[in-house]
Amino acid sequence: MKLTVLGSGTSHGIPVIGCECPVCKSLDPKDNRMRASLYIEGDDEERVVIDTGPDFRIQALRVGLKSLDAVFLTHAHADHVHGLDDVRSLSYEREIPVYGNAETLRELKERFSYAFQNTQRGGGKPRINLNPVKHPVQIGSLTLTPIPVKHGRLDILGWKISKTNDSGPFAVYLTDTSFIPQASLDLIRSPEVKGPEVLIVGGLRVRPHETHFSFEQALSTGVDIRARHVYLTHICHGHSHREITAICRRFRNLRNLEDTVMEPAYDRMEFVL
Ligand SMILES: [Zn+2]
Ligand SMILES: [Zn+2]
Ligand SMILES: [Zn+2]
Repeated sequence: MKLTVLGSGTSHGIPVIGCECPVCKSLDPKDNRMRASLYIEGDDEERVVIDTGPDFRIQALRVGLKSLDAVFLTHAHADHVHGLDDVRSLSYEREIPVYGNAETLRELKERFSYAFQNTQRGGGKPRINLNPVKHPVQIGSLTLTPIPVKHGRLDILGWKISKTNDSGPFAVYLTDTSFIPQASLDLIRSPEVKGPEVLIVGGLRVRPHETHFSFEQALSTGVDIRARHVYLTHICHGHSHREITAICRRFRNLRNLEDTVMEPAYDRMEFVL
């Protein structure tokens, strides 16, 4: 399977509208961060995304998305769902299933109420169906397992991404996380099983935040679940890509984690598992 980071920025994206800070004015393409999202291609050409934020249309065009088998959602904050209408052009042939927790789907029904009314005919709305999840979901060769985590007081989902009926390398996507309950840590790794090959984890900034991991908390999560590669996402404009790379390197060196890769993610970063 192949994973592509569609966006690695926090809710504003980077550059932030109206901001003239060095990161927002940076010429390094890795300092341009769209809203956080992940694209997953299965070995049998399944195509799914985790979150459809306001940049979804541009992100889909950039990766040449031609079909979509499912949408998985972490939560219903605007930066994660407000591009959902743009699955419309991919839903003419068949409805696209959307998976999330009950609260997220309840909010979607309000936010996108027109999509669920029978009155509007034709192509004016995305054809989606909502599926509350508690258990792993299989999309052909891909299996996505919901991982309940806390985003401040909100209960949201991270996702474990594995190959169906395969105990080989897997990935975990945890954005907008401030706490991971023990039961969820156990879902990610049991004592006899290795940790994820790739962990993509929200790390907002250096300073702590009420509803998001800081860089250090996010990297520590990688250590806790024994991830081999840890990539930070949902990053704000406080530091450049280069600076965050140095922060990750310092964290690794201080803890003698030579075998672990720790870096900031960037838009269009790819991994093959
Ligand atoms: Zn967010
Ligand atoms: Zn800025
Ligand atoms: Zn959020």
